[in-house]
Amino acid sequence: MSKGNISVQAENIFPIIKKFLYSDHEIFLRELISNAVDATTKIKTLTLKGEVKEELGDLKIEIKIDSEAKTLHIIDKGIGMSEEEVNKYLNQMAFSSAEEFLSKYKDDATIIGHFGLGFYSAFMVADKVDVITKSYQTDVPAVLWSCDGNPEYTIDTYDKTQRGTEIILHINDESKEYLTESRINELLNKYCKFLPVEIKFGTKTTTEYEGEGEDKKEIKTEVDNIVNNPNPIWKMKPGDLTDEDYKKFYNELHPFSQPPLFWIHLNIDYPFNLTGILYFPKINNNFEVQKNKIQLYSNQVFITDDVKEIVPEFLMLLHGVIDSPDIPLNVSRSYLQSDSNVKKINTYISKKVSEKLQSLFETDRSGYEDKWKEIATFVKYGMISDEKFNEKAISYALLKNLDGGYFTIEEYKAKVKDLQTDKHNKLIFLYSNDVKGQHSYIKAARDYGFDILEMDTIIDNHFMQHLEYKGGDVTFVRVDSETPDNLVQKEDKKESVLSQAEQDKVKDIFTKSVKNIGTGHIELKALSPTDHPITITKPEFMRRMKEMQAMQGMDMGMFPDSHNVVINTNHPLIADKLIKMKSEEKKADFANYLHDLALLNQNMLSGEELSLFIARSLEFVK
Ligand code: ADP
Repeated sequence: MSKGNISVQAENIFPIIKKFLYSDHEIFLRELISNAVDATTKIKTLTLKGEVKEELGDLKIEIKIDSEAKTLHIIDKGIGMSEEEVNKYLNQMAFSSAEEFLSKYKDDATIIGHFGLGFYSAFMVADKVDVITKSYQTDVPAVLWSCDGNPEYTIDTYDKTQRGTEIILHINDESKEYLTESRINELLNKYCKFLPVEIKFGTKTTTEYEGEGEDKKEIKTEVDNIVNNPNPIWKMKPGDLTDEDYKKFYNELHPFSQPPLFWIHLNIDYPFNLTGILYFPKINNNFEVQKNKIQLYSNQVFITDDVKEIVPEFLMLLHGVIDSPDIPLNVSRSYLQSDSNVKKINTYISKKVSEKLQSLFETDRSGYEDKWKEIATFVKYGMISDEKFNEKAISYALLKNLDGGYFTIEEYKAKVKDLQTDKHNKLIFLYSNDVKGQHSYIKAARDYGFDILEMDTIIDNHFMQHLEYKGGDVTFVRVDSETPDNLVQKEDKKESVLSQAEQDKVKDIFTKSVKNIGTGHIELKALSPTDHPITITKPEFMRRMKEMQAMQGMDMGMFPDSHNVVINTNHPLIADKLIKMKSEEKKADFANYLHDLALLNQNMLSGEELSLFIARSLEFVK
């Protein structure tokens, strides 16, 4: 037996490991199992090269808990290590890389915790670590390396004949959770689900049936409980996979989710190596909750589901898996953003997604339209946030009108050009964000022959602004922001049937009786006698400013609630009835009543005002 000191400075490292890695202790298991996988891959490679002639046999990695001894075991049948190699890899190399890493990132505990330190992570959860290892080389004896967290270690020969390495963690008192089956299962499921070598954790019973009817016999068999799927489909060729395979895999990743709309299989090996599958989920309006559903792997080892720096922001709505050994992991986030591989990966993914949408649009327009509802948020979000994506998506983004028709932006421009070009030669796109609430405004606009778009999702406000800004010649106008004649402003004005004096009189009646319009004003207009006598409008600009303010959580005081009251001087109730009423009091009552009706039409009458209105109406019909 020999003794040694890991390194002179090593006194520092164990306390640091324990202290700094506190946030994410669990990572140790991933690190140790990754080493076991590497060792297994290496022995396979040596066999392929003909350097190892013997049968490799079963290569499963086994995880075992010994609750009595309070130990956790990670056992592989990989390449193993000779005494010399243990010295080199565990005492010198592993140590120095751990130390270098720690000194570099000791101010950033989350990174260290997140990415682990390889072999030395074991000391986060163990008082003592034993490594029993037998090299694949036939005449090299097995050794036992043992270290109790001080820089001192012992190394001795050991009686082990089978090739491979067993790591024994003597779990410390604070980490007892790692001696429970459920916790280990949880970790295996999180980090090891798709590792390329089978991992066994305990056994399970399978039941098969033999015979028929009365003779039917139950046959129970104990089999290894394999916790991972070593051949995940993202590593396979798209040509060998069916739609069912993709859907099944999605279900494996996100159990209990609705089936995905479609998917993209990523596969590139130059100028960087990346495989993966991205799924388009059914996105609901509430898309915040859907984020962080892309998992990042490096050679099938789970790294993180926080892929912010690797995937363009808008693509975070997608689900799935990205696997790339070329994404630097042991680095800080700010570094990641400037890494050139990461940038290229970003561009590649964005381009692939765009190509997929484009091809769906071109090859199956009606299928694409059917899915539009679900991908709209995603495409709009992408167009707003990513310039390059916008350039492409502008040709396949769709607008939906209230008749259920879908149009590209160009198609829609052509459709409404004749009727909806205003006096400044701007195209007016009319929209509703509340088909029920704005019913009478919609009807009025339609009576003028206008077409109306449905723009009712959270993102639509931004999207319309984006199109106005990008498109230049388009303005969006909500159906209730103007009287219908004026939604698309033209030169021609209708003549009022009232004289100027009569109009002044009407205005006077309303100014005196109508209250609470904030900074809005009362306006007389000569509309058609079939238009409403009074219309409440919410001018587009003011409304948008207010909405923007509310969205940014700003003080609402700056833009007070306001609307305009437009009086149709050509409506018979105004032009004949009101003007001819005898008493001033009657006129005021009548004006108020018409105004209340207009408010009601805009869903603006509630509370005490509504009660008063109903009481007054009952008086009227008495
Ligand atoms: P890394 O895996 O990043 O190289 P580690 O600290 O995890 O760093 O391990 C250091 C070295 O120890 C490995 O590179 C490998 O050569 C050796 N090693 C660790 N675990 C095993 C194992 N289970 N079987 C064989 N060699 C191992």
